[in-house]
Amino acid sequence: MIAFSPGVPGDHLKFSVSRRVAYCLMPDKLPKRFASFAIAIPLYQLFDYAIEEGNEALVGTRYRLPFAQGYKTGILLSLQDSVSLQSHRIRLAQECLDATPVISKHLIALARWMADYYLQPPGEVLFQCLPRYLRSSKPGKPHRVKYWHANALEPIVRKSIQRRSPKQHQILLAIEAAPDGLNAIQLKLINPGWAGLVRALEAKKAIEWGWAKPPVSDHTSDKLPDLNTGQEQAYAAMNSRFGQFSVHLLDGITGSGKTEVYFRLIHEQLMQQRQVIYLVPEIGLTPQLVDRVRRRFGEQFALSHSALTERQRYDSWDRFRRGDVAIMLGTRSSLFSQSDRLGLIVIDEEHDHSYRQDDGIRYHARDVAIKRAQMLDIPIVLGSATPSLESLNNCEREHYYHYQLTQRPTRFAPPGIQLIDCRNVKLEYGCSNFLLCRIDHHLKQKGQVLLYLNRRGFAPVVMCHECGWQANCLHCDARLTLHQSLNRLLCHHCGFVQTPPSVCIDCGNVGIKHYGIGTEQLEQGLKKRFPQYPVIRIDRDSIASRDDFAQRLETLRQGEPCLLIGTQMIAKGHDYPAITMSAILDADQALFSASYRASEALVQTAFQVSGRSGRGDRQGEAYLQTSFPEHPLMQALTQASYRDIARSITRERKMLGFPPYARVVMFRADALSLEQAIQKLDAIKQCLQSCAISHQVKCIGPIPALMTRRIGRYRGQLCLISADTRRLRALLREVMPDIEAIKSSQSVKWVVDVDAFDL
Ligand code: ADP
Ligand code: ZN
Ligand code: ZN
Repeated sequence: MIAFSPGVPGDHLKFSVSRRVAYCLMPDKLPKRFASFAIAIPLYQLFDYAIEEGNEALVGTRYRLPFAQGYKTGILLSLQDSVSLQSHRIRLAQECLDATPVISKHLIALARWMADYYLQPPGEVLFQCLPRYLRSSKPGKPHRVKYWHANALEPIVRKSIQRRSPKQHQILLAIEAAPDGLNAIQLKLINPGWAGLVRALEAKKAIEWGWAKPPVSDHTSDKLPDLNTGQEQAYAAMNSRFGQFSVHLLDGITGSGKTEVYFRLIHEQLMQQRQVIYLVPEIGLTPQLVDRVRRRFGEQFALSHSALTERQRYDSWDRFRRGDVAIMLGTRSSLFSQSDRLGLIVIDEEHDHSYRQDDGIRYHARDVAIKRAQMLDIPIVLGSATPSLESLNNCEREHYYHYQLTQRPTRFAPPGIQLIDCRNVKLEYGCSNFLLCRIDHHLKQKGQVLLYLNRRGFAPVVMCHECGWQANCLHCDARLTLHQSLNRLLCHHCGFVQTPPSVCIDCGNVGIKHYGIGTEQLEQGLKKRFPQYPVIRIDRDSIASRDDFAQRLETLRQGEPCLLIGTQMIAKGHDYPAITMSAILDADQALFSASYRASEALVQTAFQVSGRSGRGDRQGEAYLQTSFPEHPLMQALTQASYRDIARSITRERKMLGFPPYARVVMFRADALSLEQAIQKLDAIKQCLQSCAISHQVKCIGPIPALMTRRIGRYRGQLCLISADTRRLRALLREVMPDIEAIKSSQSVKWVVDVDAFDL
């Protein structure tokens, strides 16, 4: 032990230093090595710790670190022989949690680029790149998955299973057909209620489970369809440019066979023993795609999306990392899957907004994916029927290669959009008489009909017609939506719930009315009107259980005539050949939206929704109901292609100096009062104002945000906008150190949003 006696004067300082070191380090084993760690806290810095000598310290492993009064998990980023901190402040890293790194040097570099580009705290960004399961101090478990195998069965037992429970029998047959058995994920796809069925089969000794590594099967022998000329040309051109980093935009109308082209490209990578990341907006919604990937690539893929548990996502991540599977099929965050032989990234529906992460660490998965491809010197393929204006602009500037597929391999082209003028027309549950007649016609012709209404609930407005009182949220600047089935008024922003009042709260009048139509009301109306057909509603409320959701999609797949109604969830990526008619019920609010993005979004929705119909062997029809049929944008939808409309919107943006011709960086603040939020933004503005002028960057605000009060907090924003990215970056580099020092607390919080979506 070191003696703590005061000693000779002058030695005092030395003593107190070593005393503190002794306090937190093992006294007889003073470390000579130091390391820098990332910790997931909202501070713009890394943290230095000492590491015991003798331990092998690997970059990318997690450690338990003493932090403030407790402990935090940190990722080791670099080793160094000395530290800038005074040695008495250095603490000793506790045990290492991983035998091998959980994050590769390449991903660390990508995360550091993200932290720098998106101006986010580096520790938080790094942890964002890990599966949630590994973000705490849980040890990475060895990879073990339960597999069920079939036992030899007495014919009499089999007969009884077959007779008494066709569902159990279906599971049994599937397990028998799989030489390596089936795991939970696979069984769930066969029957969402698999767990009970499997237990019953186990009890009958028909099956049993064991631990196993998933089988690495060869590619299936599923015969590849011949590509048509357009597909073939795009495929060949891409392949010839694939040797290095390159961005390819596959811009093909809905149903033109983009997926088939991705499959070919993926197949090519697999032949070269490379791995592929395949991103889609939302897999839970498209079980069809999963089936398609399985038919083509067997069990060589792992899935990762929000309907899986943390543990399941971790398993997928781990299987991909170990190379047990070659394809990672997943949503946004699957972009951070680790691989040391990644050959290709595919981003389907690249225009989709779900690729933006809007809370916590803000980033755009498409843009980060492009950076990742560049760092690895590999190709990346973006695909969409309605590419974002950003991507089209990048093609124009020859940053991306551009390929177009203008025809469907099936017989019929996507239908043109026809407007239904609903001025002075009485609507029943949001539908004009003409629309109802068309629906009737298609159902009678054995077609399926898709109706898009982007508003869930029964009615969006509840008010008193005597005094004008409206049911508003107590915590947000928003109306409450009536959900009749729940007999509740709900706020869609904060979840606030209230029982609908029977008399007006202000004047006591009993005539409270609701206005406007939501999907719930539409469903009710259509069920009454077309009682002989199933009505399938798909929105956030109706898919409380995902299993049920898959079953409903199964009804659709069977191709019987039915009505499908829903919010934007039904506009994405589905391929149901029996849909012969689609209609958008209400898109008018987009014409008057305060958001400059609204028209782009409307056009994308219109083309995506209309493109859901006529994919099979019958010509489709597509309608859009509007009270503004003469509006130039509505007119354009009926006459022009997506490309032409996109071009004209882009021209407008150029004139206004908006993205993609400018970059936007938004500082947002929220607090318990608007003054506090604005004050915080004023402080930020102080730091950057003079620099902004010299860099010629426009600074707008601070102003209250569009929806000023949300979830009980008042929100303001300060916007930087510049057509010159370099100047904007230079400005940020100069001012961010000062801004980062501005305190963000629970009571007054500020964040920065680079490439903000809206103004
Ligand atoms: P997209 O991804 O562009 O929406 P898909 O790849 O889903 O288009 O193709 C639409 C439909 O056309 C699918 O049912 C698919 O099986 C079929 N298809 C695609 N390519 C071909 C082809 N070359 N020959 C025949 N059918 C094809
Ligand atoms: Zn009233
Ligand atoms: Zn609310």
